[in-house]
Amino acid sequence: MDFSFTEDQQSIRAAIEKICAQFDAAYWRGRDETGEFPHELHQALARDGWLGIAMPEAYGGAGLGITEAAIMMQAISQSGAGFSGASAVHMNIFGLNPVVVFGNEEQKRRFLPPLIEGRDKACFAVTEPNVGLNTTRIKTKAVPQGDHYLMSGQKIWTSTAQVTNKMLILARTTPLEDTVRPVDGLTLFYTDMDRSHVEARVIPKMGRHAVDSNQVFIDGLRVPAADRIGEEGKGFGYLLHGFNPERILIAAEAVGLGRVALARAAQYAVEREVFDRPIGMNQGIQHPLAECWMQLEAAELMVYKAATLYDQGKPCGAESNAAKYLAAEAGYRACEAAVMTHGGMGYAQEFHVERYLRESMIPRIVPISPHLILCYIAERVLGLPKSY
Ligand SMILES: Cc1cc2nc3c(=O)[nH]c(=O)nc-3n(C[C@H](O)[C@H](O)[C@H](O)COP(=O)(O)OP(=O)(O)OC[C@H]3O[C@@H](n4cnc5c(N)ncnc54)[C@H](O)[C@@H]3O)c2cc1C
Repeated sequence: MDFSFTEDQQSIRAAIEKICAQFDAAYWRGRDETGEFPHELHQALARDGWLGIAMPEAYGGAGLGITEAAIMMQAISQSGAGFSGASAVHMNIFGLNPVVVFGNEEQKRRFLPPLIEGRDKACFAVTEPNVGLNTTRIKTKAVPQGDHYLMSGQKIWTSTAQVTNKMLILARTTPLEDTVRPVDGLTLFYTDMDRSHVEARVIPKMGRHAVDSNQVFIDGLRVPAADRIGEEGKGFGYLLHGFNPERILIAAEAVGLGRVALARAAQYAVEREVFDRPIGMNQGIQHPLAECWMQLEAAELMVYKAATLYDQGKPCGAESNAAKYLAAEAGYRACEAAVMTHGGMGYAQEFHVERYLRESMIPRIVPISPHLILCYIAERVLGLPKSY
């Protein structure tokens, strides 16, 4: 067992930290206030080639693993950018993995370089309003018509849809009643967001205002058959392929957010004096922060265990789910403790921790709720009967 990062991995973290240092806490607070997308961070990371960190070298990527991608995403979040920064590029890092694995050569050449170079921005449209986590019941349909499909339907929570020109979207191509299994008949497309047929309406939400989330209405969108990824009807399986790395990256981002919140709390606890001594001299302030440190360390170990297993091509479903759960909870607890350490000032925007607390809810809910992770562990690891 080797718990240390390699020199290359440490230099990745240092390079990302250097880029992120250009965007200070005031920048992120400002973006949260205005809701403006952090294009500057996206461009800065694209300029230095970081958006292709886990994409194949043949298409302009760096060909590195999920471990390196997790180091990068954690560093972005931990810089103080939190989920406002991480979510702005999250889709670039691994979102197009279905194209890498299941796309044809023409699609890889057409789709990957523009995303890696930052010329394209893409959103991920799976969740639907009346379906929830029961993804196989999605209603968005794509009807084949010669060399194209005609797509109509509705998505919800599609992040970045205000600023993207591309979307990776799951639609039903065979009616549910005509399939053998509910997972059949779903097809994945990566296509243009033709705004004359796609309308994205921002959902006013609790935090991460710089990165929009939307209701998306699709009405008669012509999707070229050339934009279909892999075989018709197998899209759900293609998405499953990316579930573990997705959870690992979100988990790394959650650890990063928890760490920056904890650092701010510790600093404030040393500086703030009440009753003629620093508040950090009180065990009531110290102990919750010490507990958060331990929880974040433990979660981080699980994140990099899952990432290492994934990069070695080994099964990592339990570890990836556990990492996502533990990191999200640890991140949230650290943000909450940071607010409480600041007392009244924890509630003031000026001290940033209230923004972190609002953002820390995201990895708890996304891309899958804690309940369903617990179900996964209960069923797949402990062998208990399926509850739903
Ligand atoms: C900020 C944000 C950004 C997002 N970005 C995207 C995006 O870019 N693209 C995208 O496709 N989606 C996105 N999502 C959607 C997100 O992935 C879903 O919200 C999440 O998967 C939960 O699904 P749901 O909201 O439909 O919950 P529901 O399915 O409606 O469930 C509601 C609650 O009931 C619980 N529940 C349901 N069934 C069971 C059961 N059998 N047992 C126990 N508990 C159960 C769930 O755990 C959950 O807590 C985003 C969401 C948010 C909040």
